[in-house]
Amino acid sequence: MTEILFRDDSYLREAAASVASVETGGIALDRTIFYPQGGGQPGDQGELVVEGGPAIRIVNTIYAADRKTILHVPAEGAAAPAPGARVFARIDWDRRYKRMRAHTALHLLSAALPYPVTGGSVGDAEGRLDFDCEATLDKAEVEGMLNALVLRDAPVSQRWITDEALDANPGLVKTMSVKPPRGAGHVRLIAVEGLDLQPCGGTHVARTGEIGPVEVVKLESKGKQNRRVNLAFRQP
Ligand SMILES: [Zn+2]
Repeated sequence: MTEILFRDDSYLREAAASVASVETGGIALDRTIFYPQGGGQPGDQGELVVEGGPAIRIVNTIYAADRKTILHVPAEGAAAPAPGARVFARIDWDRRYKRMRAHTALHLLSAALPYPVTGGSVGDAEGRLDFDCEATLDKAEVEGMLNALVLRDAPVSQRWITDEALDANPGLVKTMSVKPPRGAGHVRLIAVEGLDLQPCGGTHVARTGEIGPVEVVKLESKGKQNRRVNLAFRQP
């Protein structure tokens, strides 16, 4: 089981850690700042600098089959560190920060459009959500609503609730395709103050103003009941 540092502080770019084990899928640390692929967000990249040894390039981050251990996938041909070795972990911050901005923008999009979310993904400077919606959406109108929410500069925070409390408030779950993780007894909620509250395990910016101006690049109708909204940053 890996101690997760990015949940309480998504702005950590570097951290010291120890190698817990080396698995076929990747390197497990005792604690990590690397976000593992999931919830529509790609896994982090970066490097592990082994004390007294080489820097190991990390090309992806994934969950092990137990869903508790996080594996740092090394570049092909990289030397494996010894279990117990001290490492200095560093993520590719520019890329991660863009994903944090894009991911938080999707929370605002789900607040702007009051329809159930059926899917979505976060890229390096763009993102998209699919809505269960029959209405005709207007690109300029959606973009205007979204940028107004960005400009509110609302704080983003997390809190935890029990599984039972979530069951008692099914309206909190907007994303029908991604069920909040169960079994730990509690679920993480992300609050965008005054705008959005939903279970989420991803990485977010601290205030919506950090997202910057957003463009609705494309609106697609994927069938009668499905509208896909594609976003990108106006400035990188
Ligand atoms: Zn989120």
